[in-house]
Amino acid sequence: MTINALFAAPPALWPDFQPALMNAFAKAGLDVALSQSHAPATVDYLIFGPGGPVTNFSPFIRAKAVLNLWAGVEKIITNPTLTLPLTRMVDPGLTQGMVEYVTGHALRHHLGMDADILVQPGHWHPRSTRLAADRPVTVLGLGALGQACALMLAQIGFAVTGWSQSAKSIPGLRCLSGPDGLTTALTDAQIVVTLLPLTAQTDCILNAGTLALTARGAALINPGRGGLIDDDALLAALATGQIGHATLDVFRTEPLPVDHPFWTNPGITITPHMAADTRPETSATVIAENIRRGQAGEPWLYLVDRARGY
Ligand code: NAP
Repeated sequence: MTINALFAAPPALWPDFQPALMNAFAKAGLDVALSQSHAPATVDYLIFGPGGPVTNFSPFIRAKAVLNLWAGVEKIITNPTLTLPLTRMVDPGLTQGMVEYVTGHALRHHLGMDADILVQPGHWHPRSTRLAADRPVTVLGLGALGQACALMLAQIGFAVTGWSQSAKSIPGLRCLSGPDGLTTALTDAQIVVTLLPLTAQTDCILNAGTLALTARGAALINPGRGGLIDDDALLAALATGQIGHATLDVFRTEPLPVDHPFWTNPGITITPHMAADTRPETSATVIAENIRRGQAGEPWLYLVDRARGY
């Protein structure tokens, strides 16, 4: 029987995702009618993206699951009409994009590239550099993205500490967990990368108290979520030099309002929520696999745990 999948993401994504999804369904041997306009009561799966047409899930009485196209679920998990299973996106293309973003910005700070890029004509002041092994880096969040980034940084040679909710043992990383682990992980860190989901527990996890733990002049790279940082505490830490620079990809309000003080702070680099995109080809394979599992009655890939919030 034909499976009805509703593409419930912003219509601008349809031209790229429609062919990728149809290709993945064919490869998985699935007979799927993919549309932007199935009647709700006839839908078997919602392929969802925030900002799309669906805000009320109640009429989807036949649906088996909501398959989120993005890794972050904080905008959908609080929707009171959503009682269906919700999966989040773990996409090799997205992960690779995040590894490239984090590695590039970490190396910028490690090598002090700004001093060379922003150099005045005639400037010749060689400076000594240090090797990555002498640069403690802490990655908050050791999930699909944090772990891949931490392992790449460790492969380059950085001394990498990772922090997560549950205890982990990952060769090449110093792994910490829990509240005490956070204090240890941040103490004397020279580069901090935040790849946590935004939940009640992680909101403002970087605040005046935790920012004070890092090495003086530490660099902060946040491609996680804007709410992980207390904006005022960050501005204060930049003003005192406790934080040397912050590279921010995500913000409490997006687009970042034109009058937000981050725009004019020389200690902040802003990228417009572009660290890592879900890639149509690689993510379509994940969506197809979850539909296959749904049809076969097998457990979902990347099922969101509502109690944990991610
Ligand atoms: P994930 O696989 O769910 O991993 C989340 C990690 O955070 C896990 O290691 C988890 O610990 C840890 N964590 C969650 N709550 C915690 C807490 N209270 N204390 C300590 N650790 C906690 O998520 P992901 O796929 O790596 O994605 C991470 C985030 O990146 C997403 O939620 C999204 O906000 C962001 N993101 C941004 C972009 C961008 O372009 N800027 C793109 C994609 C994603 P456990 O391992 O113990 O569960």
